[in-house]
Amino acid sequence: MTRSFVRQINVGLGVALSMLLLNAVISYRNILKLIGDERLVSQSYQAIAELEASLSLLKDAETGQRGYLLTGKERYLEPYKNSVARINQQIQTLRQLQVSPNQQKQIQALERLIGQKLAELDQTIQVRRTRGLNPALQIVQSDRGKQIMDNIRRQIAAIEQQEKQQLSQRLEDTQRKFSSTLFTFTLVTATSLVLLGLVALTLWQNEVQRRQAEQTLKEREERLQLFVEYAPVCLAMFDRNMRYLAVSQRWVDVYHLGSIESTLGQSHYELFPNLPEHWRQAHQQGLTGQSKKCEEDHFFLPDGTEQYLQWEVQPWFNDGIVQGILLFVEDITARKMIESALRESDQQFKATFNQAAVGIAHVAPDGSWLRVNEKLCQIIGYTEEELLQLTFQDITYPDDLDKDLNYVRQMLAGEIQTYAMEKRYIRQNSSLVWINLTVSLVRGDEQPEYFISVIEDVSDRKLAEADLQQYKDIFQFAEHGLAISRGAILEQVNPTFAQLHGYAVEELIGCPILDFYPPEMHEDAIQVVQQLDQAKHLTHETIHLRKDGSVFPVLLDITVVQEEPDSAYRIVNLFDITERKQTETALQQSNLTLERRVSERTAQLQEINQELESFTYSVSHDLRAPLRIMQGFAQALQEDYSTQLDDIAQSYIESIAASAVQMDQLINDLLSYSRLSRTQIELSPIDLNHVVEIALQQLETEIQERQVIVAIAPNLPTVMAHRSILVQVIVNLIGNAIKFVAPSVRPQVLVFAQMEPNQVYLWIVDNGIGIAPEHQKRIFRVFERLHGVDTYPGTGIGLAIVQKGIERMGGQVGVESEIGSGSRFWIALPLVPPATTDSETRISPA
Ligand code: ADP
Repeated sequence: MTRSFVRQINVGLGVALSMLLLNAVISYRNILKLIGDERLVSQSYQAIAELEASLSLLKDAETGQRGYLLTGKERYLEPYKNSVARINQQIQTLRQLQVSPNQQKQIQALERLIGQKLAELDQTIQVRRTRGLNPALQIVQSDRGKQIMDNIRRQIAAIEQQEKQQLSQRLEDTQRKFSSTLFTFTLVTATSLVLLGLVALTLWQNEVQRRQAEQTLKEREERLQLFVEYAPVCLAMFDRNMRYLAVSQRWVDVYHLGSIESTLGQSHYELFPNLPEHWRQAHQQGLTGQSKKCEEDHFFLPDGTEQYLQWEVQPWFNDGIVQGILLFVEDITARKMIESALRESDQQFKATFNQAAVGIAHVAPDGSWLRVNEKLCQIIGYTEEELLQLTFQDITYPDDLDKDLNYVRQMLAGEIQTYAMEKRYIRQNSSLVWINLTVSLVRGDEQPEYFISVIEDVSDRKLAEADLQQYKDIFQFAEHGLAISRGAILEQVNPTFAQLHGYAVEELIGCPILDFYPPEMHEDAIQVVQQLDQAKHLTHETIHLRKDGSVFPVLLDITVVQEEPDSAYRIVNLFDITERKQTETALQQSNLTLERRVSERTAQLQEINQELESFTYSVSHDLRAPLRIMQGFAQALQEDYSTQLDDIAQSYIESIAASAVQMDQLINDLLSYSRLSRTQIELSPIDLNHVVEIALQQLETEIQERQVIVAIAPNLPTVMAHRSILVQVIVNLIGNAIKFVAPSVRPQVLVFAQMEPNQVYLWIVDNGIGIAPEHQKRIFRVFERLHGVDTYPGTGIGLAIVQKGIERMGGQVGVESEIGSGSRFWIALPLVPPATTDSETRISPA
């Protein structure tokens, strides 16, 4: 209902009601007036009646008086008395009815007349009683009574006349008022009724319209409800408090909510207390008038299953104000599952195709490769891209092509459904590979579409077949005996095996192995079998019996092959070692002779060695005396005859002196070296810090001259050694480190120790010229030098002394070097055992 309509209705009703009210007031007043008039009218009627009654009473009184006058009997006075008694009351009533002063006067006049009449009557009655009839009749006949009576009649008629006039006037007034009242009432009522009718009509029309609208609305609502109910999506309408206003059956079913009726009015958040926070936010945003949607989301249903869904939140409005939200949810789980199943099946197909253990290919009817898997590429050594450029004819070995093409032709002609063949492909690297090919044809609309080829690499089998033949040949033609036994029974033997034992092959099949052993060897044979069970392979020399009872030595090489738990068999290689045994015996003889000779020679050599060492020592020792003389004379010549000698002679003498110095050094070194071999040495704990310090003091001059940078690591450990030999070793090593440095380079020497569990490595590292790896061993031998004396002076014995000295102290020596990158010499010496001290330990090296 619109406002204007309501106003119209209100105005209409107001006017109608006001008019009815006015009408009621006017009518009430008119009716009051009418009632007043009506009372006056009835008063008039009553007054007339009362006048008539008074007259009648007077007549009755006159009648009673005459009866008494005539009869003299008292009983005739009864009417007279009644009338007298009532007439006064009659007059009083008239007085009350007659209200106007004029009427009051007339009534008074009447009352007087009546009084006169009554007095006249009483007088006559008294006269009758007292004087008899005649005097009474005289009074009557005087007509006075009659005159009074006529006056009374006239007075009553006048009053009646006046009363009737008044009555007719009043009746007229009443009639007029009544008509006017009726008219006004009718008019106002009719107007009000018309107005009410109009209002009712309007209301009726409005009601009709409202009902139509309601009907339309209801129909629409029902249609909408049906639409929502049967919508194939989850659809729900909520109010601002997220209570269900409408919901689709799908929603109710999916979320197990019972029925639409039971869901309506419920709170969404009470039904789903575990809704994700971002959904609640989306609802709130919807309630602020925003639309939200999500193409893919997921939700765990109350029964725990995961649902994939697509949702949309839309606000709904009334008069521009958000009243709630609409929620559309589409269950896309099935779609997702189909997608994922499709993806999976596609992946499975690809995986099956690509990861198959056999080659698989789709081949066009013309032979070109359409699709190939990884295995096929592996088999034939082409990449997929390369292969897709080729046809199967291109890579089929020419000898096998015709057979294949023949099959293809038959298949295309529909004569065969499938074929399989073994053939060779030419691999990418030109080698051949045997494959087993199985082909079927896929047709679409009856037309050949492509072949499905399954390609299996059978090279190994082909090889195995070839190998098997080879093994058979080896078995058959082997020059040594070969047998296969299961348990202790021979299953197969080769001709050599049979021949060596003097049997035919057939005779030995099923023969117990123990039969080949002489009875006294049976025990051994059983032991061998037991060992074999453990070791699975053994080589064993024994004696075998021939068929004729003779024996021969054999070497058995037996391997147990366990194919399955209960089916072990043995491969026996049997070698006739008669010849070897004979040779061995001869060799043993000659060995014995040889060993004897060697020990004799060794003793001789040791003797010679010792003689040589003592010879070296004595020679060196003895050479010193003439050398001293040479040096002395050379010095004398230089000192005493220098003025007499020319320059050439001078240079000769210098050469002699230098050679003598060199020779002296050589002799000293040789003596040191041979002394090292000869001396009995004892080892004791030696502090390396101290030893290195002494060595540096001895090399002081060289260090100064070449301005050597020496770095010694602090806290060097204590080792088991011989002090003076160790000093000699370190002097030689540091001396070489200073000496074998390029002239332009300032020598740098680093000395440090490296601790190992039982020994110490002392490293002497230099920045010298380095040593080529091929020379690193020989420089430790006597007289081995890598340079001329002019380049780097020396005798070539220093490192030999180092090696001999270290060996005598139970240690080792070595070098790491390369030309141009310095040398790193190391010596390894035993550490001091934990409980020993300098004083108590004296160890002799072995
Ligand atoms: P020499 O008397 O020549 O020093 P050694 O026996 O001490 O004899 O050394 C033998 C040879 O080893 C040397 O002549 C030299 O060629 C080489 N040599 C030894 N030590 C070094 C080193 N630190 N750097 C380079 N070469 C070396």
